[in-house]
Amino acid sequence: MTDSVSTPGSNPRTRSFHLRVFGCQMNFYDGELIRGAFLRRGYREQAEATSADVVLFHTCSVREHAEERVHSLLAELRRHKKQHPEVVLGVVGCMAEREGRQLFEREPHVDLVCGTRHFPELPNHVDRVLGGEERVLELGEAPSAVDAPVRDLLGANGGHHAQVAVMRGCDLHCTFCIVPSVRGGVQSRPPAEILDECRRLVDHGVREISLLGQTIDAYGADLGRKGRRPGLAVLLDSLADVSGLERVRLITLHPSYCDRELVEAMARSPQFLRLLPIPLQSGSDSILKRMKRGYSMDLYRKRIDLLREHMPDLELVSDWIVGFPGESEADFEKSERAMEEFGFLQSYVFQYSPRPGTVATELADDVPAEVKKKRNQRLLALQHRIARQRTPRMVGESSRLLLEGPSERQPGHWFGRIQNGHFALLPEHSAYRPGQLHEVSLVGYNGRELEARLSPEAQAEFASLTKRRQTALGGLERSSIPDSFSV
Ligand code: SF4
Repeated sequence: MTDSVSTPGSNPRTRSFHLRVFGCQMNFYDGELIRGAFLRRGYREQAEATSADVVLFHTCSVREHAEERVHSLLAELRRHKKQHPEVVLGVVGCMAEREGRQLFEREPHVDLVCGTRHFPELPNHVDRVLGGEERVLELGEAPSAVDAPVRDLLGANGGHHAQVAVMRGCDLHCTFCIVPSVRGGVQSRPPAEILDECRRLVDHGVREISLLGQTIDAYGADLGRKGRRPGLAVLLDSLADVSGLERVRLITLHPSYCDRELVEAMARSPQFLRLLPIPLQSGSDSILKRMKRGYSMDLYRKRIDLLREHMPDLELVSDWIVGFPGESEADFEKSERAMEEFGFLQSYVFQYSPRPGTVATELADDVPAEVKKKRNQRLLALQHRIARQRTPRMVGESSRLLLEGPSERQPGHWFGRIQNGHFALLPEHSAYRPGQLHEVSLVGYNGRELEARLSPEAQAEFASLTKRRQTALGGLERSSIPDSFSV
């Protein structure tokens, strides 16, 4: 820890902060905003909590163990805080919003508890603690929106991939979910702000952007209605004009909001990654009803049919909860059949655990832990089998591969995702850079990834471009070849 820690109100430029983020992509996006807020105040970021003047945990509340993880880290810091009482210890985000004042009782060495809509003001709240205020608590609605109209990219992670939150909160009330009570209802960002942020990210070398929202296809529902609803379809169309932006991912859809207008926009988008997270959660209508998911298997089926009618090569990603209260063996087998019917490429399977603050806690948690564990393993094994059947079907096709980087598993190759999300390997070339998009032919499958080759046209173009560039630069090394080089 720096000896430069001075009395409250002194020059923060010498102060340091340590930020640890847990949970979903939205939390990691928020983490970038928090980092930016402290860097703008002249703080330095510290990798170690015990070396920082301000220690912040940006937390998740979706599952119990996520919260227990933070409590054990706080416990580890109890002695350090006793030895360094000037250190500011703060808990931010969903767990802070859910536990609120109780957190101070359970963790008396915590100085600051800040909910999901107050973190843009975090440096000010830290100053209040440094100013001598005890137990600073900020929860619920905030005076100003979380997302600043113009986000400077201070705090952004850099690299060719970035995330952009297009909305916050959720208007639905699935009985197992804590999100609506800790993040509130839907708040969409104005499209112009999002477009501006995406353009500036591309100017900073980003080539792939994941648009984030709990129910992203509900985007714009709360925005004024002059003419065409400024929904996700409009946003996707506008992003097509952002040159240099090679790929757009949508995270996460809800079947109830996925309408024809949006599906058609996805299909015509040159950038849309046809790997769609649209969680089903269960294949049983009676369980979907108890979850209050807001759709039946029949509606879900209609949505998937509509999506695949417009994008036959679309791949799907789902979340599943096994062992939800009342889930019988027959209900679970319906989930297995649904996983086979829709042929998901990827799935995240969770064993149900009651979350304080959710409606489902009123239901008896009657599925034994052993049964939940077995069902979890069965669904994961099935998903594995399905993915191994789906990927080799791409052999013989051509696609566009966005390079991620050199493959650790297959030295001499670079890896990336093709247009519908399957991973593929490309023999390396000195001019490759992360974020480059290449036309490829899919020539093989090694049991895990596809094997790709630059399409003949791409090879010819790539070779001539590399040659022209080397000639132009008088044979200088590859480092002179620009990043945004795609054929
Ligand atoms: S749709 Fe349901 S599971 Fe998803 S955030 Fe909203 S309430 Fe939670």
